[in-house]
Amino acid sequence: MTEIDVLVSEVGPRDGLQSLDTIMSTDAKKRWIKAEAAAGVREIEVGSFVPAKLLPQMADTGEIVKYAKTIPGLTVTALVPNFIGAKNAIKAGVDKMCLPLSVSETHSRANLRKSHSEVLGEIENIVQYINSLEATKRPEFAGNLATAFGCTLEGPVAEKTVLSLAGQLMELGCGEVGLSDTTGYANPAQIKRLIRLVKKEVGNDRLTSIHLHNTRGLGLANALAALEEGITTLDSSLGGIGGCPFAPGASGNIVTEDLVFMLDSMGLQTGIDLEALIEVNRMVKQSLPKEELYGFTVDSGLPKGYQNGGWGVAG
Ligand code: ZN
Repeated sequence: MTEIDVLVSEVGPRDGLQSLDTIMSTDAKKRWIKAEAAAGVREIEVGSFVPAKLLPQMADTGEIVKYAKTIPGLTVTALVPNFIGAKNAIKAGVDKMCLPLSVSETHSRANLRKSHSEVLGEIENIVQYINSLEATKRPEFAGNLATAFGCTLEGPVAEKTVLSLAGQLMELGCGEVGLSDTTGYANPAQIKRLIRLVKKEVGNDRLTSIHLHNTRGLGLANALAALEEGITTLDSSLGGIGGCPFAPGASGNIVTEDLVFMLDSMGLQTGIDLEALIEVNRMVKQSLPKEELYGFTVDSGLPKGYQNGGWGVAG
């Protein structure tokens, strides 16, 4: 595979689908994942190992992981809320798993029904379990600091809490920390400041990814700010699937097609064929007829004379 500059990590099948009323069929999920991997996307978060009664949209995650693992070259990731979820994820064969640790403790209780110390306890158990496995069977494990830029329940969150939790994740043995703008509150200056502070706390190589939402239209500005601070993995969702119940007309995650257009037109290698990605959008739209998809690039089409891998240099 060719070298890339930025890893675009597709989270639509998890973050996108979990917030929709529509339950996408297992076959449609498989088709989506297969087509997006074929378009060159190298990492996909395919689901969440939460109890099916809480999130029926994610009930087939084990099967989806097993299927996705048959696709050559694809890194298969999943969200795990706790130790039991992590064990199930490992059993299904994930390459990588993330556990959300919400910086806002109010959000943590609402989301996982756990305090910070309870979530950290789950993480400790997961790391011990991973370390008990044969080296070849150990997935990567990241703690994602959710609501790191603000919380719909608590409002602003203290940066010192972000740093303290980041430090604790490292002490417990997480491979990486991630930063998540779960609520779409972040702005580019804040993104830059927090990335610098967290890197200072945990080391440059332990913070490489960011998860952004486009709730107030700042998603791509935030993505660019993160890139300028050395972030190399950006989460995004095809067609911005997921929406946001609190901001009608705003997409959920940043839109994969628009992100790839930005990176590609800047001459940054993603390994993704943008035209093929736009075809995937059309396919997924057909399997979600009642849902709204977002994104400027799909609506407007590519500029005249556009070629994958660079734009804006004429003559
Ligand atoms: Zn999210």
